[in-house]
Amino acid sequence: MTGGPMAAAPIRGSTRVVGVIGWPVRYSLSPEIHNAAFAALGLDWVYVPLPVPPGRLRAAVEGLVAMGFAGANVTIPHKSEAAALCAELSEEAARVAAVNTLVAAEDGGLRGHDTDVAGFDRFLRGEAGHDPAGRTALLYGAGGAARACALALARAGLARLVVAVREPARADPLVRALEGLPAEVEVLPLAAAEGLALGEGALVVNATPVGTSGERLPLPRLGPGTVVVDLLYRPDPTPLVEAGRAAGAAAYGGLGMLLHQAALAFELWTGREAPLAAMRAAALRALGRDAGARGPRPPATPAGAA
Ligand code: NAP
Repeated sequence: MTGGPMAAAPIRGSTRVVGVIGWPVRYSLSPEIHNAAFAALGLDWVYVPLPVPPGRLRAAVEGLVAMGFAGANVTIPHKSEAAALCAELSEEAARVAAVNTLVAAEDGGLRGHDTDVAGFDRFLRGEAGHDPAGRTALLYGAGGAARACALALARAGLARLVVAVREPARADPLVRALEGLPAEVEVLPLAAAEGLALGEGALVVNATPVGTSGERLPLPRLGPGTVVVDLLYRPDPTPLVEAGRAAGAAAYGGLGMLLHQAALAFELWTGREAPLAAMRAAALRALGRDAGARGPRPPATPAGAA
């Protein structure tokens, strides 16, 4: 395979269809990532954008089943509502009350998964080489992605999770998602993260859209022992990644997690091992093309969206 853009595969009567449901989905990298994976393995599959406005998810999901889609990804703002529409949920999806991957079952029902949980874990412990066991993490946000990261961290043996949110009561579902796991959880108002001392080997994760347009989060003390992960991948680097690197921390954007959650969704649909290198190359091509394009930057919401 060459590093350049691939020719579109022919779509036939036999082609299996999957896609990404979100609003908006225009800036999603997932079509490029998955279509590159199908092409790399020579699969007769196609992945399409499915823009579904708020309030139309139920109709969209019923249509998906009626039209014989093999499944779909779900992104902002539909992940939580999608969980309520599934006939069956994976253990992770039920715990975090969010679904990012729908798989059509043979009986016509839909099974909901949340591959963000294992996607974050594979990125953090595999690719970034950070073991959170026995350590502290500061997590910005308590939405679907934050709940997925929190569950992955708690399962990996994190000792203490500090959650920084605009409205602490909105973190209740995150706290519930960790019930029965040994991590100690503390919820703080966002501003209280400023200057916080987290200790050696701490992890800082941004699971909010803050930074997409250059906005800055209130930062804890960062240093060479800190590991920073921003789930956003635009701009590159994000303000948080920039701040982490300036303090000597190891700092990563959200592309790694995006690829791993996509690889897991690909495997659920096709039963084949995902060609991660081809998927990464497609994402980098798309990001490079965006960076080189003139015109306004994509709006805040979808910048890290699947
Ligand atoms: P979500 O369910 O809508 O949750 C968003 C969270 O961000 C909520 O806690 C929300 O707090 C908080 N938030 C929103 N605007 C904020 C602001 N201006 N200041 C402070 N907090 C704010 O969305 P999500 O699915 O969790 O996604 C969160 C981010 O992660 C998005 O940018 C998404 O694109 C990115 N993401 C990346 C990946 C990846 O693979 N790289 C995967 C999933 C998600 P309130 O409750 O106060 O609104």
